[in-house]
Amino acid sequence: MLGFLTLINSRGDFVYKIPEELAALGKERIDGYPVEGFVWGSGPENPAIMLVGEAPGENEIETGIPFTGRAGKELMASLESVGLVREDVYITSAVRSRPYKWGTKKKRNGEVIERKYNRAPTKKEIIAHAPILDTEIRDIHPPLIVTLGNVGLQRLIGPKAKVTELHGLLIETPILYWDDVNNCFKETDEVYHIFPTFHPASVFYNPPVRELKDEDWRRLKELLGKVE
Ligand code: URA
Repeated sequence: MLGFLTLINSRGDFVYKIPEELAALGKERIDGYPVEGFVWGSGPENPAIMLVGEAPGENEIETGIPFTGRAGKELMASLESVGLVREDVYITSAVRSRPYKWGTKKKRNGEVIERKYNRAPTKKEIIAHAPILDTEIRDIHPPLIVTLGNVGLQRLIGPKAKVTELHGLLIETPILYWDDVNNCFKETDEVYHIFPTFHPASVFYNPPVRELKDEDWRRLKELLGKVE
């Protein structure tokens, strides 16, 4: 692809990368918000599925690779359960920088320190990075988009969508893209296959979700290779 930086992964597959200028634009558009780092989406040009998460966390901005923390381990186990590995899928998110907030932490010796905590991205931050996700989806045109949690789901099909209501369902629908001229999200002409499921981290703060999430992945396994 002309103008695109193409690389080959350890398996000899071409990996997809957004153009450098688009990454630079994303960094510029999000400048001034309380976010840090920039993690590129990762995966092959022709992935089995595209995973759309929320935003990178502390681990990811250190490694530069999406889903490398605790939630990443959980996600890799789900992928394995359907016979896939990281190299088979394209992993991205609504926002590519880590949204943070300052908070305090009490150390074992009693000392209280200030530290950054992860937080969900705001609508403005999602809009700032919307052209990145729009480009990834347009270029890769994945057969199936698996949204992880409400942020990814609502970014693609609107704020009324709820993962608790839609998880485990295959939805054929236009998706939202950011229209900079009119300053609003608009629906694509094309329809996409969306499969909403829970964010892998949700099982840490809501353990009963694990059963529902695992059932979603069992359903997803049946769909793999059947949708285009
Ligand atoms: N959550 C996400 O949505 N993406 C990551 O890379 C890590 C956690």
